[in-house]
Amino acid sequence: MGKVKGFLEIQRKEPEVVPVPLRIQRYEELVLPMAPVEVSQQGARCMDCGIPFCHNGCPVNNLIPDWNDLVYRGNWRHALEVLHSTNNFPEFTGRVCPAPCEAACTLNINDQPVTIKTIEQSIVDRGWDEGWIVPQPPSHKTGKRVAVVGSGPAGLACAQELARAGHEVTVFEKNDRIGGLLRYGIPDFKLEKRHVDRRLDQMRAEGVVFRTGVHVGVTMPAKELLSGFDAVVLAGGSEAPRPLEVPGRDLDGIHYAMDYLTQQNKRIAGDDVPGQILATDKHVVVLGGGDTGSDCIGTSVRQGARSVTNFELMPEPPAKEDKPLTWPYWPMKLRTSSSHAEGCTRDFAIATKGFSGKNGKVEVLHAVRLDWRKDATGVLRAEEIPGSAFDVPADLVLLALGYLHPVRKGMLEELGVALDPRGNVKADMNRYRTSNPKVFAAGDMRRGQSLVVWAIREGRDAARAVDAHLRQHSNGP
Ligand SMILES: Cc1cc2nc3c(=O)[nH]c(=O)nc-3n(C[C@H](O)[C@H](O)[C@H](O)COP(=O)(O)OP(=O)(O)OC[C@H]3O[C@@H](n4cnc5c(N)ncnc54)[C@H](O)[C@@H]3O)c2cc1C
Ligand code: SF4
Repeated sequence: MGKVKGFLEIQRKEPEVVPVPLRIQRYEELVLPMAPVEVSQQGARCMDCGIPFCHNGCPVNNLIPDWNDLVYRGNWRHALEVLHSTNNFPEFTGRVCPAPCEAACTLNINDQPVTIKTIEQSIVDRGWDEGWIVPQPPSHKTGKRVAVVGSGPAGLACAQELARAGHEVTVFEKNDRIGGLLRYGIPDFKLEKRHVDRRLDQMRAEGVVFRTGVHVGVTMPAKELLSGFDAVVLAGGSEAPRPLEVPGRDLDGIHYAMDYLTQQNKRIAGDDVPGQILATDKHVVVLGGGDTGSDCIGTSVRQGARSVTNFELMPEPPAKEDKPLTWPYWPMKLRTSSSHAEGCTRDFAIATKGFSGKNGKVEVLHAVRLDWRKDATGVLRAEEIPGSAFDVPADLVLLALGYLHPVRKGMLEELGVALDPRGNVKADMNRYRTSNPKVFAAGDMRRGQSLVVWAIREGRDAARAVDAHLRQHSNGP
C-alpha cells in the first residue's frame, strides 16, 4: 500500500468521455485516456485490504492491489507484468468489462470504489505505446497439435496459452475475420478493432495459425479435427438467439440484433455489405435491455434514427443498490450505459404482443404493460394489466432478447458431445473435458451467454487442462 491515507485524501475520478453531440457523429471509442499522473493518484486510493474482495469479484482474479500499488509508485512495466500474469487481454476487459471488481471493492461499502477498470486499461495501453508488449514464443516445441474452434476471447486466450506452452495451435473460425464477438458484435465505439488486430499479430508471431472461413461441421467435417489433432477445444460461443414468436414476426424490418450489429462492424472495416439494415430516418424499437440492446441503441443513434425506443420485459430495477445486502456481489440496479445516455426512450415491464404493417413491411409494434409480482413461493410472475395495450411506430425492430445456447446443428451434432440441461456443451469445471476425452469446451459454448472476462478465464483454464492432458499422453521428456 503506497499512500496510507490515499483513500481519505483522493476522490474517485472517472475517465473523460467524448460529449454526446460529438460522439454520435462517429464510431471511434468514446472513453478518453486518463493522464498517467491521475491514474497513479487513483491507484493510491487502494487500501491493500487484508482480504482483497476485488480478487474474487474479478473472474480472472486479477491481482488488483498489487498493480494499483505499482502504478502509484510509477513502476508501470512491473504493473504490466503482474496484470498479464492473470489476463491475456487486459485491453479488451479494460474497455468492455462491467467491472464486478469495483462492486466488490471494500471502499464501495461506504465510499466510491477504486477506478480499477480504468487503471487496468491505462497499464496495458501504456505497455503497447512503450513497446513493452512483444511476442513470447515458446523456448521448445512439444510436437502436439491442438485445434481451437472459435476465435472469440475464449478461443484466443486458450490458443495463446497453448502456443506459449509449445503446442502447435490452429484456430478455426467460420467468419471472414478473427475475433468472435470482439470483432463482430461489440461496436467499435466500445472497442476499436485495432486492439484485436494487434493481439493477433502477437499471437501469429508466437506460432498460432488462424484459418478463417472454415465452418467446422458445415464446410469441414468435425471428425477431421479428431483425426488430425491431438486435442480439440470447442469455443464457438452461444449463438442461438432467443426467438420472439408473435403475430407479424415475419414482416420485413424485424431483425436479430447480431445481424444488425455485425453489418456496422463490417462497414467500418471497409466492407461492401449486401442487404443493408440501417436505422437512418426510422422509428427504431429495440427489444431487450441488456448489453446487446444497448449496443443497438448506440448504433441506431449514430445511423441517424428518427426515434429509438427500448422495451424490457422485466420490471425496472431500483435506482440504487442496497449495499449492506448486496456487497461484495454484483448488485441488481438500474444501469444507464453510454448508449442510453445518447438518446432513447426506455420502458420496463413491457410485453410485445405482435407487429403489423403494409406491403410486407413492419410499421407498428403492439404491446401491453405487465404487472410483476412474487407468488406464494417467492417467484416473480407477470400478469398483463387489463386495458394497458398500446402501439408504437416501428420501421425497424431489433431483437436483443439474449441467447439460448450454442448452435447444435453441424459441429455439436456431428461430434455427439453431451449437453447440459440448459443446452450448453457439458464439460466439467476443473478439467473442461467434454464427454469425448479428446474434446474440451470453454467460454459461452460451455457456460452459456456471459462476459468477455469469463471467456478469457475459461480459455486460460481450458488451456491448462489441455496441456495436462497432452503431457500425460506424451512419450517425450
Ligand atoms: C452485442 C454483444 C455485446 C456484448 N457486449 C459485451 C460487453 O460490453 N462486455 C462483456 O464483457 N461482454 C459482452 N458481451 C458478451 C461477450 O461478447 C461474450 O460473452 C464473449 O464474446 C464470449 O466469448 P467466446 O469466445 O466464448 O465466444 P464468441 O465471442 O461468441 O466467439 C465464438 C466464435 O466461434 C465461431 N464459431 C462458432 N461455431 C463455429 C464453427 N462450427 N466453426 C468455426 N467457427 C465457429 C463464431 O463465428 C465466433 O467467432 C456482448 C455480447 C454481445 C452479443
Ligand atoms: S477484468 Fe473486469 S473484473 Fe477484472 S479487474 Fe478488469 S474490470 Fe475488474
